[in-house]
Amino acid sequence: MPITPRSEIVALPGYAARRSESLPAKLANNELPEATLPPPVAAAIAAAVAESHRYPDMAATDLLDRLAERHALPAGRLAVGCGSVALCQQVIQALCRPGDEVMFAWRSFEAYPVFARMMNATGVPVALDDGHAHDLDAMLAAITPRTRIVFVCNPNNPTGTVVSGEALRSFVARVPPDVLVVIDEAYREFVTDPGVLDGLEAVRGAENVAVLRTFSKAYGLAALRVGYLAGPATVASAVRKVGVPFGVNGIAQAAAVAALAVEGEVTERCRRIAAERDRVRGDLRAQGYPVPATQANFVWLPLGDRTGDFVAHAAAHGVDVRGFAGDGVRVTIGGPAGNAAFLRASGSFLSAGRELAQRGAVGQAGLGQQVADVPLDGAR
Ligand SMILES: *Cc1c(COP(=O)(O)O)cnc(C)c1O
Repeated sequence: MPITPRSEIVALPGYAARRSESLPAKLANNELPEATLPPPVAAAIAAAVAESHRYPDMAATDLLDRLAERHALPAGRLAVGCGSVALCQQVIQALCRPGDEVMFAWRSFEAYPVFARMMNATGVPVALDDGHAHDLDAMLAAITPRTRIVFVCNPNNPTGTVVSGEALRSFVARVPPDVLVVIDEAYREFVTDPGVLDGLEAVRGAENVAVLRTFSKAYGLAALRVGYLAGPATVASAVRKVGVPFGVNGIAQAAAVAALAVEGEVTERCRRIAAERDRVRGDLRAQGYPVPATQANFVWLPLGDRTGDFVAHAAAHGVDVRGFAGDGVRVTIGGPAGNAAFLRASGSFLSAGRELAQRGAVGQAGLGQQVADVPLDGAR
């Protein structure tokens, strides 16, 4: 009898290597363009490296205390993880029994359906609306007695769209109290629209809301793997329990603590990226691309079945972008050279005489298959 993993694990897609990662303009992963860390963060990392023979603080006390202070929440309502992607997994693991439902918009962050399947839960994708944004009314209508978690990715990866504060508040108020709304705010720091709700406000005001934040994107610490959850104490406690012991390493903890102390610099840098984002979107629209309004550090090109062609064309121009087959292309806002190279590529793609395919309406029936085909390397 050969060794046989659980059937739902065998069915999961494996990591696919991406060939284009060596291209000069790296606009595929929503990372910051500059490698420059604020000096106190670099110093904290160096000091922590010197302690590499020691186990880290398993409870991440210092980091949790700073986050608690920063957000005016008890530390007991927080949990840290190996990036907020680990916390997506842990919250499903902590709350879902086999057959329970985990709802998310589609297209959204690809980790949600993967982790749902991993935990034997049922992923329930709900189509984005025609503006590539969450359809909160449709999501509310799709809640069943088996629904345990609803992810709301705000701004949404990969479309960059946001839901308004008013819509999100009213959604949270109408979701049954035994369903946890997880607002994934991986790109919160790039939001410039004052009408977008700060998810932590919702966390403070409700017993069934959690927020996920990360140091990977705005803070530029993607390689170190650290993020956090804020939510009800019972949820935070359960999420901490299912985490890998010592999962958040000491270098990451020290870097995150130091990064919080220079939040002003981080905010300033995000403002510059947001301004560049708005400029790049304007240029793309002037070129003829129907790019939806974005509040993240990336833009979405709904290219439908031209997606693969566009990715290849950009690669030929030295630009690595992220294509989602049959759906569209997500492009991170980079530095001046990267953005210029990208806009040259997008301009010449059209002038090569190609027709823009509009994103076709994907019915609910087609969504299940799309989600089933999600490659695990998309977990970003
Ligand atoms: C990048 C991202 C994350 C988490 O990234 P980590 O590096 O694991 O912290 C979570 N959610 C979304 C939507 C993301 O795009």
